[in-house]
Amino acid sequence: MYAKVVVDISNDAVDRVFTYLAQDDTKIGMRVRVPFGGRNVLGYVIGLSKTTDYDTSKIKPIIKNLESVPKIKREMIDLCGFLCEHFFLRMADCIKLVLPSCVRLDSEHEQIKYTLSLIYDLDTAISKIGTRAKSQLGAVAFLNENGECDYTKMVELFSRSAINALIDRGIVSKTPVRRMRAPSVDKQNEEKKVLTAYQQRAVDTITNQDKTFLLKGVTGSGKTEVYMQIIENALKEGKSAIMLVPEISLTPQMMQRFTSRFGDNVAVLHSGLSEGERFDEWDKIFQKKAQVVLGARSAIFAPVENVGAIIIDEEHDGSYVSVTNPRFNTHDVAEFRARYNHCPLVLGSATPSIESFKRAKEGRYTLVELPERINNHEMPKIEIIDMLGEVLDGNTTPYSKKLISKLNECIENKKQAILFINRRGFASFVMCRECGYRAKCDDCEVSLVYHKEDNQLKCHFCGKRYRMLTNCPNCNSTNIKYGALGTERVCNDLAEMFKDVPIFRMDNDTTRGKNGHKNILSKFASTTPSILVGTQMIAKGHDYPNVAFVGILDADVSLYNSDYKSNERTFQLVTQVAGRAGRADSEGYVVLQTYAPKHYVYRFASNYDYDGFYEKEINLRQTTGFPPFSEILRILVSSESDNRAKEVTKKIYDEAVKLKEKYGNNIIFLQAMASPIKRIQTKYRYQILTRYIPNDKITKDFYSIADIVEKDVSIFVELNPDNLR
Ligand code: ADP
Ligand code: ZN
Ligand code: ZN
Repeated sequence: MYAKVVVDISNDAVDRVFTYLAQDDTKIGMRVRVPFGGRNVLGYVIGLSKTTDYDTSKIKPIIKNLESVPKIKREMIDLCGFLCEHFFLRMADCIKLVLPSCVRLDSEHEQIKYTLSLIYDLDTAISKIGTRAKSQLGAVAFLNENGECDYTKMVELFSRSAINALIDRGIVSKTPVRRMRAPSVDKQNEEKKVLTAYQQRAVDTITNQDKTFLLKGVTGSGKTEVYMQIIENALKEGKSAIMLVPEISLTPQMMQRFTSRFGDNVAVLHSGLSEGERFDEWDKIFQKKAQVVLGARSAIFAPVENVGAIIIDEEHDGSYVSVTNPRFNTHDVAEFRARYNHCPLVLGSATPSIESFKRAKEGRYTLVELPERINNHEMPKIEIIDMLGEVLDGNTTPYSKKLISKLNECIENKKQAILFINRRGFASFVMCRECGYRAKCDDCEVSLVYHKEDNQLKCHFCGKRYRMLTNCPNCNSTNIKYGALGTERVCNDLAEMFKDVPIFRMDNDTTRGKNGHKNILSKFASTTPSILVGTQMIAKGHDYPNVAFVGILDADVSLYNSDYKSNERTFQLVTQVAGRAGRADSEGYVVLQTYAPKHYVYRFASNYDYDGFYEKEINLRQTTGFPPFSEILRILVSSESDNRAKEVTKKIYDEAVKLKEKYGNNIIFLQAMASPIKRIQTKYRYQILTRYIPNDKITKDFYSIADIVEKDVSIFVELNPDNLR
């Protein structure tokens, strides 16, 4: 037999499938060692055949099969083929997606743990030991009392020599057990709820259908309950399920709800796991010990078989498009797997992406709605406050009078409040009022952010830290101006206004470490009254019944982000953040501060009018020729040398112009320019931006003109990037 083998070397020249002579028990999907260019490298068998077109005298044999049960299942090999074709990826890179590095590169991750148990009854054991060996006697008495015990623990208690003597003398047995490093979750009992009529209808419509559904349900309408019921129905049929959330570590609640409903049947995959934990979770799925996979984007590659449901919660979320190589779009991968397994794919959201809703309108997705909150709770009222009006009224603070009075009321009622500000740190920049000097990063073309806590200026792009200015390095003036406020400043201000009220801050600075989010959220959950201040990480999926007030301090940041998605993103953000209020008995109230009170995004968002917003936005996209009516492709060229970056950009641009000639009006826009952020981490950045009528041929051509190797320059192609900076 001949084996087709992908070698694990990320390099243009070797992205080919090589043929080797298979060993007798080589199977498709196995990891193997093969000779390659004088070395011995890792490879993956993606096919077997009896014959080959190559000169058989030149074909080398596989050196070794690395496992007896193939690690890559058939579906995943087919999926890799799909990824190569669809996302212009290399096979070796696709395999990196379906086999995480802890599985790919290692088989030593299984931590062996041993348990000890007594072979004889206590009296016999004692007679065999004799009376002098006190530690050994203690150990057998302990084992007799406690049954099986952990080897390491026994060694700690009774000394290694005593324990080993007992084992050597055949009085105690030592057997290996695999230790599962289960990520920590607080178990709570999640009762199964009696579904509302809307929920039941959704479950009935979706269960068992080989179709893609858009589940559009307002915040607090009980979407999670629907997901869990669909999954339960799949399990009843002996199938498995994948449930994706934007970032599981942000939503410990989801983890709790799933583990309390499905117990040990849940495996969790996310970026916060250690390599060992990730290996165990992956292996638990691979060994079919867990049927339900809960995780972030990469969990779509989980090795579950016989999938009965795939769910993408908060489907509009930007995190479903990967920004690092190998790049892929989770929706497309999920669609592939759902069709492969003939099961439903459910895209859930209160604010579907424009693209998904369009597909639902066109009938490519089946729309299922949950139009009401559970128990008929009202959606919280969203009041728009014109911040210019506040200034004209003499209030120059960042907090409107209404915001403060509502916050007061909330605290007096012993409820909780959430304040949203999508900026961390104390001030977004510092500058000299006299000469206009602005503190910037040495390595990046961006302003430094002031962090008061450590009295430092930080670059949010490369992490570099600088001393805070006391006077201007340019003119020596001490008249320093602070830029727009961030979470840290809000907490400072609130601490002065509400002296006795606990205030929690949740942003990238306070959530470091493994249980960072969980710790803050659980403290917040159990403290009333209290205030939670946070960036967009507070917007997602949290369900805290006592939150009565939500303040959106500054949504305009996101609105004026100047890319075609900024309207959509702002609408989603406002709706999601507002949705944290009034989820149980407390009536919710939301204050939204803005300098653009008449903007249609805010008008539609404050009326919870998704459909109205969609109509307006889709028309705008159509008339201006933006996605989903076009594709946006960016070729990003970066280099430490400004000149080299420019040169290479020019070179690729010349080729792009030829494509423009070839495709004519199908290419709507083509331009080369410096990137909005001209330098990041000492690298100069230029880009070629193009927009064209969706067409795989054009996409392929752009990918191929960028597929060149240039010394000291990196070239990066992005299709419909989530941000252009
Ligand atoms: P969504 O994901 O749509 O925002 P959730 O699934 O978090 O909504 O549900 C909101 C709240 O309503 C949760 O506390 C949940 O436990 C509760 N809930 C959901 N379905 C029901 C039901 N059928 N009966 C009672 N409570 C429910
Ligand atoms: Zn100055
Ligand atoms: Zn920097």
